[in-house]
Amino acid sequence: MSGFEYDLFVIGAGSGGVRAARIAARYGAKVAVAEEYRVGGTCVIRGCVPKKLFVYASKFAEEFEDAIGFGWTTDKVSFDWATLVENKDKEIDRLNKAYIRNLEGAGAELILDRATVEDANTVRLASGRKVTARYILVATGATPFVPRHLPGHELAITSNEAFHLERLPSRIVIVGGGYIAVEFAGIFSGLGVETVLVCRGAQILRGFDDDIRNHLAGEMKKKGIELRTQADVSAIERSGTGVRVTLNDGTGFGAGQIMFATGRIPNVMDLGLDKVGVELTPHYAIKVDEYSRTAVPTIYAVGDVTNRANLTPVAIREGHAFADTVFGGKDVKVDHSLIPTAVFSQPEIGTVGLTEAQARESFRAVDIYKTSFRPMKHTLSGRDERMLMKLVVDGETDRVLGCHICGTDAGEMAQLLGISLRLGAKKSDFDATMAVHPTAAEELVTMREKWTG
Ligand code: FAD
Ligand code: NDP
Repeated sequence: MSGFEYDLFVIGAGSGGVRAARIAARYGAKVAVAEEYRVGGTCVIRGCVPKKLFVYASKFAEEFEDAIGFGWTTDKVSFDWATLVENKDKEIDRLNKAYIRNLEGAGAELILDRATVEDANTVRLASGRKVTARYILVATGATPFVPRHLPGHELAITSNEAFHLERLPSRIVIVGGGYIAVEFAGIFSGLGVETVLVCRGAQILRGFDDDIRNHLAGEMKKKGIELRTQADVSAIERSGTGVRVTLNDGTGFGAGQIMFATGRIPNVMDLGLDKVGVELTPHYAIKVDEYSRTAVPTIYAVGDVTNRANLTPVAIREGHAFADTVFGGKDVKVDHSLIPTAVFSQPEIGTVGLTEAQARESFRAVDIYKTSFRPMKHTLSGRDERMLMKLVVDGETDRVLGCHICGTDAGEMAQLLGISLRLGAKKSDFDATMAVHPTAAEELVTMREKWTG
C-alpha cells in the first residue's frame, strides 16, 4: 500500500461524496470523509428532500378544492406552518442519521470538520490536523448565488433559509426563473402566500422546451402567481417587518420576504485548489476529465462542484464511477447525455432529450407531435388546468429525440421515457405500444398527427 494515512480522503458528505466513499470502502480502500455542515449534503438537508415534502404540503389546498366536485365537504381545513417545518425537520434528522450509519457501516471514517487541500496528497482540517491520502476527492457541492452588488441584498433569503422560516409571509418576491424559483413559487403560492416571481428573461426556465415554458407560465398565472418577466430587482429596503422591492422599470412593491433563486456557485472558495494546480472553468467549477480527474492526477472532483449537470442522481453516478475506476479496477465513465429531469413546479415538468429548438439546430427534418388536454380529474373538479405533452422526432430516422411533459406526475413519466430514449425508441415504437387506459400517459402513445403549427 501507499504509505499514506488513507487511500481516499473525501471532502464533502453530500450525494456524490457519500456514494464515492461507500463504494471505495466496499472495494477495501481506507476512506475518510470530512463534512463541515451535515452529512447528507444539499439534497437531503436543504434541497430535493425537504423541497419535495414542501411541494406535497402545498398541493393539499388544491386537493381540498378539487374534492368538492367529487362530493366531499371540506370547509374546516386549516394549515399550520410550524407543524410542517417540525415534521420535515424530524424526517431530515432521520435521513441524516441513516446517512451517517451507512457511511460508517461501509467502513468509512467520518470527520465532522471543514477540510481544505494542502497539497496533492494532503488535506488540512479546520482543527489544524493534517491528513495524507493517496487520492483526494473534492465533492463540496455548491452554494446559492446572491447578487451582492444589489443594495439591500442582505435582507433577502435563499432556499437555505426558506426551509426554516419562523412564519410564512403574506407576500413573497422570488427572484430568478430557474428550477428553484418556479418550485418555490408553487410551494409558497400553494400555502397561501401571495407570490411574485421576478425573472430577468423573457420567459421562465431558460433551456427548457419553449412550449413547456409557456404552458407552465400560463398555468402558474392561473394559480394567482404574478410573473414579472424581463424584470430585475434594482434595490431592496427594509420596510416595517418586511421589505420594499424596487424593479428596474421603477415600479416597486412591499413584501414580507424576498428570496433569491438566482443560481448556485461551486464551493471552491478557500479550498486551496489554486496553490496545488487544480484548474477551474470560467464559471469557477472544477475542471475535470471524463473520469472526474482534475489537472492534478491524485485529485478528483464530482457533483455540483464540477457544474456538469447539477442533479443528485448525476452526482451519485459520478461518485460511483470514480470509485469503480480508481478502486474497483473498472473503466467507468459517466454518460451525461439523455438525463431525464423533473421540475417540481405546479404543474410538474418531466423532460428528457432535446428541446424542439435544439433538435432543429442539429437535425435536417424534425417532426413535432403535441397535445394539450384537460386531465380527466378536472372534468369533475372543475379546475381550469391543462396538461401538455410533446414529442420531438427525427423526421429522417423516426427516432424520438425528446419528450416534454407539463402536468401531474410528469416527473414519474420522465423516468420511464428516459429508458425508452436510451434504447433509441422510434416514434413507431411509441405508436405500437398499447395504451394504458384511462391515464394521462396514454397520450404519449396515441399522438398520430404531426404538428403543423
Ligand atoms: P452536496 O450535496 O451539496 O454536498 C456537498 C457537501 O460538502 C455539503 O454537505 C457541504 O456542507 C460539504 N462541504 C462543502 N465544503 C466543504 C469543506 N471544505 N469541508 C467539508 N465539507 C464541505 N437535484 C435533483 O436531482 N432533484 C431535485 O429535486 C433537486 N432539488 C433541489 C432543491 C434545492 C433547493 C437545491 C438547492 C438543490 C436541488 N437539487 C435537486 C440539486 C441537488 O441537491 C444537488 O445536485 C446535489 O446535492 C449535489 O450533490 P453534491 O454531492 O455535488 O453536493
Ligand atoms: P438555475 O440555474 O436553474 O436558475 C437560475 C435563475 O436565476 C435563472 O433564471 C437565471 O436567469 C437567474 N439569474 C441568475 N443570475 C441572476 C441575477 N444576477 N439576477 C437575476 N436573475 C438571475 O438555478 P437554481 O438556483 O434555480 O437551481 C440551481 C440548480 O439546482 C439547478 O440548475 C438544478 O441543476 C438544481 N436543482 C434541481 C432541481 C430538480 O431537479 N427538480 C430543483 C432545484 C434545483 P437566466 O436564465 O437569464 O440566466
